[in-house]
Amino acid sequence: MSDAAPAPAPFVGPLSDKDRIFTNVHGFQDWGIDAAMKRGDWDNTKALMEIGQDAIIDRIKASNLRGRGGAGFPTGMKWSFMPKESKDGRPSFLVINADESEPGSCKDREIIRHDPHKLIEGALIAGFAMRARAAYIYIRGEFIYEAKVLFAAVQQAYDRGFLGKNACGSGYDFDVFVHRGAGAYICGEETAQIESIEGKKGQPRLKPPFPAGAGLYGCPTTVNNVESIAVSPTILRRGPEWFNSFGREGNKGTKLFQISGHVNKPCVVEESMGISFEELIEKHCGGIRGGWDNLLAVIPGGSSVPLVPARQIRDAPMDFDGLKALGSGLGTAAVIVMDKSTDIVRAISRLSYFYKHESCGQCTPCREGTGWMWRVMERLRTGEADVSEIDMLYDVTKQVEGHTICALGDAAAWPIQGLIKHFRPEIEQRIADKRGPLVEAAE
Ligand code: SF4
Repeated sequence: MSDAAPAPAPFVGPLSDKDRIFTNVHGFQDWGIDAAMKRGDWDNTKALMEIGQDAIIDRIKASNLRGRGGAGFPTGMKWSFMPKESKDGRPSFLVINADESEPGSCKDREIIRHDPHKLIEGALIAGFAMRARAAYIYIRGEFIYEAKVLFAAVQQAYDRGFLGKNACGSGYDFDVFVHRGAGAYICGEETAQIESIEGKKGQPRLKPPFPAGAGLYGCPTTVNNVESIAVSPTILRRGPEWFNSFGREGNKGTKLFQISGHVNKPCVVEESMGISFEELIEKHCGGIRGGWDNLLAVIPGGSSVPLVPARQIRDAPMDFDGLKALGSGLGTAAVIVMDKSTDIVRAISRLSYFYKHESCGQCTPCREGTGWMWRVMERLRTGEADVSEIDMLYDVTKQVEGHTICALGDAAAWPIQGLIKHFRPEIEQRIADKRGPLVEAAE
């Protein structure tokens, strides 16, 4: 028998206030630099930079932070792909994705509105670690107030000497530019975003080359989500072990969850990864509207992930692997709750229309497939389709999935696959209801 102490059980919530990174996410305090500094931002940032570029990347790796923009790629590893020195004189860039166009997702907006200095300090730290010359924050055009706050917050940081030449007295020169988008969903895709910053039509690039080799203006570039960047200074200050102490293996840290739909109190809240769906909803949202028996389904990660029916979601750990095991995904942790008043076929059909509308049109399976899938979804919604079209639609989603330049094809396919997988009897019933009187008339 081993004498080794058993490994401590993973902490999966609820999170106490002292462990929250975003202490002003609800905007109870001022967003400005003086209030931000009282909350701990820009606290001896120079000392953080003195840790050294490689050591910063190693600590982010050790924290097991996975990208908060949806894909969940390890952030430290992504940073390590950037060149350590420029052999041909090209500068490196950091692009921060504040496009936040995924339906249901609304966390980056809250960070920028209420805690913008976490993001700006994170931009300096991350940019420095990757040897970047500057960061471009790409903010969606509809975020008018947030863009105003961000421009003002960046100016505050320049005025204090935290950005620009000799940023924070570190000897490192670093600029932050804010770039406003124009509202296209596809500009949330990293290479489309780079095209858009360059002043071109927002269309995803074929990869390779990957941005770390040739990204913005043909230079090495890393594109990171707002939340991934904004948490990095706190991780460095409190240590990777602290961040690692939350969540389950492979799914570490804290996370902003955005809960919308049929709960009593929709909200954005920071919680430990791996918290169960039930605890998340009961603790922060006042429960499901009409009680748990009234829950129909949940889209747990923003509109592009498959829905999870009520019977499976209640005990599910809200993290990458827990939701993957249910055939869905954490995505951006934009949790869309639907109770039994929802016409689930209509809801998914509406999402299909969104993806049809947002397809950039470059590749045939997406350009033609999204429109085709939406039209069949509408036939299913009205019950006018034939039962055989359900399988045909499923087959088409499989032909679109994985056969396109970017993930928009997958995003259009997965919600429909989730609907057919879990709600096929409802779809068939709708068709039968529509056909019923006709059959009787024929008899
Ligand atoms: Fe454009 Fe759709 Fe192809 Fe992406 S998958 S590149 S959005 S056509």
